[in-house]
Amino acid sequence: MIKFIDLNKINLRFEAEFTARFKSFLNSGYYIMGSEVTQFEENFAKYCGTKYCIGVANGLDALTLIFKSYIDLGKLEVGDEVIVPANTYIASILSVINAGLRPVFVEPEVQTFNISPSEIEKHITAKTKAILVVHLYGQLAAMTKISKIAKHKNLLVIEDAAQAHGAVSTSENKKAGNLSDAAGFSFYPSKNLGALGDAGAVTTNDKDLVETIKLLHNYGSSKKYENEKIGINSRLDELQASFLNLKLNYLDADNTARRAIAKRYLSDINNSKIQLPYYNGSDNHVFHVFVVRVDNRVKFTQYLEREGIGYLIHYPIAPHQQKALLPYKSLSLPLTEGIHNSVVSLPMSPVLTNTEIETIINALNLY
Ligand SMILES: *Cc1c(COP(=O)(O)O)cnc(C)c1O
Repeated sequence: MIKFIDLNKINLRFEAEFTARFKSFLNSGYYIMGSEVTQFEENFAKYCGTKYCIGVANGLDALTLIFKSYIDLGKLEVGDEVIVPANTYIASILSVINAGLRPVFVEPEVQTFNISPSEIEKHITAKTKAILVVHLYGQLAAMTKISKIAKHKNLLVIEDAAQAHGAVSTSENKKAGNLSDAAGFSFYPSKNLGALGDAGAVTTNDKDLVETIKLLHNYGSSKKYENEKIGINSRLDELQASFLNLKLNYLDADNTARRAIAKRYLSDINNSKIQLPYYNGSDNHVFHVFVVRVDNRVKFTQYLEREGIGYLIHYPIAPHQQKALLPYKSLSLPLTEGIHNSVVSLPMSPVLTNTEIETIINALNLY
């Protein structure tokens, strides 16, 4: 059985170093917001090329805190419209709703699965104040075009970079997290940079935003027991930060390994029943997942099960069709619905072996 992703194998590469780091963490006697968090914030800002990084508890909080902080700063108001990709993980949408803003669902470009700039333009109203882009599956959205639209209409741009750690825009010579006003990252264990538990971060070059998030994510307080704002508790865990400081050193190599696997899939899978994803060959894609489309998904996934090939579906139900988002159920989003009904993610991780890759390719060519 080839696992969709073998998290144990990914992390066992660092077993000795994790253990040493745990011991040093234990002995430090300092378990919340210590030097590992500060160090990670410095390291990750440097990696992304931004001035600032703030560690938070998870990716959803990272995005929600960005929106809440812009409201606190007066750059957004409760009830403002935020353009969002209809085709995404529900967390992107929840961050907008949880901050008291209104998501406006926009269809993707079918080729890249990412939000369509021309569809964004069609959905801008007098109430639109921001665009949330998601670099879905690890491939950067059309940021140059989107930034241009935003600048013209005076809108904020926020990146959901939870699937795109290390993706590089070759045209802008910048990384995910540094292509907008502010970005939210998740370090959920299966992400390209994954902790051993929940973790997240915000990256930005906006000093005011940083100061507000620093307050809001820690009880609205900068001085112990003095509370300036109605905040929440969403801190990056010290132990997770220490693990992330180590793993960040291997992120680029892991992304290179993912791209190499994707290139083999793209060149060696030849089956008219399996539609392969678009990839321009550059470092703008870090292949968080490798997503194919098929007409008969039930038949295809049954075949994968018989062949012992792990898979996942990202995602089986579109956000606007979830029970939780009932007010949006009547929206007509045929491209999004078509994608959600036909996608299947193949095994993808930096620890897949040559033999496993060959087995997968052979099985898919025989389907
Ligand atoms: C994983 C993910 C999130 C949420 O991250 P958590 O750390 O699980 O809160 C948000 N958006 C996208 C696109 C994701 O893939």
